[in-house]
Amino acid sequence: MDIIGLIGGMSWESTVTYYQVINEEAHRLLGGQHNARSILHTVDFADIEACQREDRWDDAAALLGACTRSLVQAGARIIVLCTNTMHKVAPAITAAAGAAEFIHIADPTAAEIRRRGLSRVALLGTRYTMEQDFYRARLEDRGLRVMLPQEAERKVIHHMIYEELCHGRVTSAAREALGAIIQSLRGEGAEGVILGCTELGLLLREDAPGIAVFDTARLHALAAVHAALGKPA
Ligand code: GLU
Repeated sequence: MDIIGLIGGMSWESTVTYYQVINEEAHRLLGGQHNARSILHTVDFADIEACQREDRWDDAAALLGACTRSLVQAGARIIVLCTNTMHKVAPAITAAAGAAEFIHIADPTAAEIRRRGLSRVALLGTRYTMEQDFYRARLEDRGLRVMLPQEAERKVIHHMIYEELCHGRVTSAAREALGAIIQSLRGEGAEGVILGCTELGLLLREDAPGIAVFDTARLHALAAVHAALGKPA
């Protein structure tokens, strides 16, 4: 099994999910005492969040590129960046990964949506992920029609991510607010909803009533294990 290099800490709350899923999936597939071979490089999320807020994406790209090189030097052959938002700098990570395989988080997500026969999906995440082009365009390139929540709902989700979930606060009020947003998107015609922020899965683990839910963190982690084992996607 190849070594998976995880760039984590964005936030560490969701890196826990990655670590758990990769080990559970490797154990499920290999049995015995097996788990995933991995190296975790955790950044300080305060540094990344400051780059986002101050629009210093080049600085973030340099920092995450250096993390990627350190993982490759340590033997990682598969690289996963454990956040959706920071895929804004995915080209820098791909370049730093060199011969190692960088798995873009949107790709296993789009593949799973297509596998379930859906195409019209709503994207939930940080305002960067929902409102900028880097993420949505990648989904659209893979044949999906992407809907967004209304402006006020986007604000609620963004706030929930940075002020609650990234601090490990998981409340029933947030779960209810997310559920209501999902149901209103369903009413507008969404067949599925992408939890396009790795912390949103802390609120919702399964499909919501009448609508499929795609948790990017879980799908990304599973894809990493399958790539490490050379299993076809
Ligand atoms: N983990 C989140 C995401 O998937 C948000 C935190 C970040 O900005 O990286 O986008």
